[in-house]
Amino acid sequence: MEQKNGLVIKSTGSRYTVLSDNGEIVVCQIRGKIRLKGIKSTNPVSVGDRVVYDDDGSNEGVISKIEERKNYIIRKATNLSKESHIIAANVDQAVLIVTINYPMTSRVFVDRFIAASEAYGIPVTIIFNKTDRYDAKHMQILDDWRNLYEGIGYKTLAVSAKKQADLSEVEALLKNKISVLSGHSGVGKSTLINRVEPELNLKTAEISAIHQSGKHTTTFAEMHALSFGGYIIDTPGIRGFGLIHIEKEELYHYFKEIFEFAENCRFNNCSHYSEPGCSVKEAVESGNIALSRYESYLSILLNRNEKYR
Ligand code: GDP
Ligand code: ZN
Repeated sequence: MEQKNGLVIKSTGSRYTVLSDNGEIVVCQIRGKIRLKGIKSTNPVSVGDRVVYDDDGSNEGVISKIEERKNYIIRKATNLSKESHIIAANVDQAVLIVTINYPMTSRVFVDRFIAASEAYGIPVTIIFNKTDRYDAKHMQILDDWRNLYEGIGYKTLAVSAKKQADLSEVEALLKNKISVLSGHSGVGKSTLINRVEPELNLKTAEISAIHQSGKHTTTFAEMHALSFGGYIIDTPGIRGFGLIHIEKEELYHYFKEIFEFAENCRFNNCSHYSEPGCSVKEAVESGNIALSRYESYLSILLNRNEKYR
């Protein structure tokens, strides 16, 4: 019996496909009840987990240890499902695909996604797509959005998944990282992925087939290996990424620039909404915090977000 280390790249709920550090693919089960401390979830192991497994030379391995996670994306328990579910672990970055038009992505959606990434401790990059379709007015908005988010400290790219010959900057972004990709339906996620990795075409179709069978919808998850290095996570649960429940009191921590100004608010527990002596509101008035960001903050704080949960 040999102990090996590997990365979980696929989960069907009862079986886990592990890529060992020396390049072998082994399907594993879990031994007994291994759980990471403090996390209660339906699945003890998720894609992205680093594990130790016993390999006795047969086709099946047995996972005996899960390495500590640097982060994980979790779907919290709801009325429908009593236990939380870990969607992915050890994610290196979140990539949000945004379109200024065709369709228009709302700012609140972008800001909610960013706040969720911050709460998870996952760096985020915004890719603006469909630049080939934009007129001068859209280009101006694109510029404004890029300046805004770059100014706060987020990397942005502007591309045309359809028309741009050279998409090497997208490839460079994804290279050797575990990435979660998100965005409204129709913004061009599939087009972009298929451009940087034409091989994935088939696999995506496979996944939808499995989903349509309705069996593994909640437990199936897979990371797609990129030929140039790295993985893209594509799971049913990932769409809910931005819908993480954040306590109201800590929401402003995940709006980086608001958090900075909040330090000088008169009240320690300032919600930056109606309190006097609020440095955040002053910064909005003086233009040091973008009104759109503040509006997104308020929209989430004041729970106009019920429908997103
Ligand atoms: P998804 O729902 O995010 O996966 O979006 P798709 O990749 O299916 O793209 C939706 C539609 O937008 C398709 O008709 C694509 O051909 C089109 N599309 C994607 N990227 C671009 C782009 O950069 N420019 C233009 N003009 N159309 C695009
Ligand atoms: Zn305040």
